[in-house]
Amino acid sequence: MPATLFQKVWDAHKVRRLPNGQTQLFVGLHLVHEVTSPQAFDMLRARGSGVAFPDRTIATVDHIVPTRDQRRPFLDVMAEDMLSALEKNCRQAGVRLFDIASGSQGIVHVIGPELGLTQPGMTIACGDSHTSTHGAFGAIAFGIGTSQVRDVLASQCLALDPLKVRRIVVSGRLAPGVYAKDVILEIIRRLGVNGGVGYAYEYAGEAIDRMSMDERMTICNMSIEGGARAGYVNPDDTTIDYLRGRRFAPQGDDFDRAAEWWRRLASDSGASYDDEVRIDGDAIRPVVTWGINPGQSVYVDESLPRPADLPAAERDAVGEALAFMGFEAGAPIAGTKIDVAFVGSCTNARLSDLREAARIVRGRTVAPHVTALVVPGSQGVSAAAEREGLHEVFAAAGFEWRGAGCSMCLAMNQDRLEGRQVCASSSNRNFKGRQGSPVGRTLLMSPAMVAAAAVAGEVVDVRSLSNDH
Ligand code: SF4
Repeated sequence: MPATLFQKVWDAHKVRRLPNGQTQLFVGLHLVHEVTSPQAFDMLRARGSGVAFPDRTIATVDHIVPTRDQRRPFLDVMAEDMLSALEKNCRQAGVRLFDIASGSQGIVHVIGPELGLTQPGMTIACGDSHTSTHGAFGAIAFGIGTSQVRDVLASQCLALDPLKVRRIVVSGRLAPGVYAKDVILEIIRRLGVNGGVGYAYEYAGEAIDRMSMDERMTICNMSIEGGARAGYVNPDDTTIDYLRGRRFAPQGDDFDRAAEWWRRLASDSGASYDDEVRIDGDAIRPVVTWGINPGQSVYVDESLPRPADLPAAERDAVGEALAFMGFEAGAPIAGTKIDVAFVGSCTNARLSDLREAARIVRGRTVAPHVTALVVPGSQGVSAAAEREGLHEVFAAAGFEWRGAGCSMCLAMNQDRLEGRQVCASSSNRNFKGRQGSPVGRTLLMSPAMVAAAAVAGEVVDVRSLSNDH
């Protein structure tokens, strides 16, 4: 029977069907960070258990690390305590930790792929919502809660309900100035922030096939924002070329054997899906969110919705979002003044993202009223960008070049909005309070659009800036 990649990977990792109808699934790779693991390790100790598969468990520090001064001990006592706890837990359990001194530290969803830990056909779990990122490689990757982190540490297994699979076919070629971020924001806008509940999303079509791994990661990263439990792209030459030679990928003949298997995992033609959605990639334009969830967005050349024009069921939510944002119904999104520009996060802080943002800011200057920062997704990204001189391009334009971490995506460190500031952000969530200030406002967009907003001082169509200097 023709099968989807999801079915093949699920079946390959199925241990047994549990009495409650769930599946006990073996987890190939467990990624751990400092925020959701301390309690899980404590629970494990309280039960007298150890880590079942330390060699399948990898840790890093990302959420709480300062990005200005990363010398130890951190000035932030709570951050220092959290990292110290992670270090102790990893030492005791024999788990490899990529800490600040390792040279390979970074956001968990950035370092997994760049180190070659993330591979096609794997099941991957991490105590973080955006674990779906790893699906870009044809892995099935789940964000899990703290008690599930404990379960995976203790047993390397998860109890899960099977998912339906929705195939999302993005046809055509993206226009210049349109990026993977625009594609996923468009998908979420069309299907809704809860449209994917109960599903894994399989992304396919010419526009996806043409994307780099960085771009596919951006797409899969935000699957969770559309309600999907996981998102994936079938492995192909792009996947295999990316992984060849990576530190933890198979080497030599082993790699060729693995690559042969990876290719066979791709969904079979004729596989059946629970749903299929088609999107015309040629027609997508740069997207900007205007509200308080990632589905509340418009194209940059569109205007904000008017509640009175909408179906009754949508009016309250749109009205609440407009009121929180302080935006006028029907006003154009272009021209919205920003205070902060943030290029960072596991969605868009990889080398290609930084290159695109740098291409926009090169020879330009950040508007005087804007605070602009670039936070690379990992030390690896940072080093590669510095080898290309991107840090100098950003610095010359007036951006701050910071150390790797989650930073203002979640504001668990000192990088936070103040008061009602408006932030043009390449991150993934625009919920109330997400960037540190309970009344701060987040506009999600591509890194290139963030760069354009930084220099213009307001939301602007990056397509009008790209080639005129
Ligand atoms: S960058 Fe943001 S979304 Fe990604 S892992 Fe960090 S806090 Fe979570």
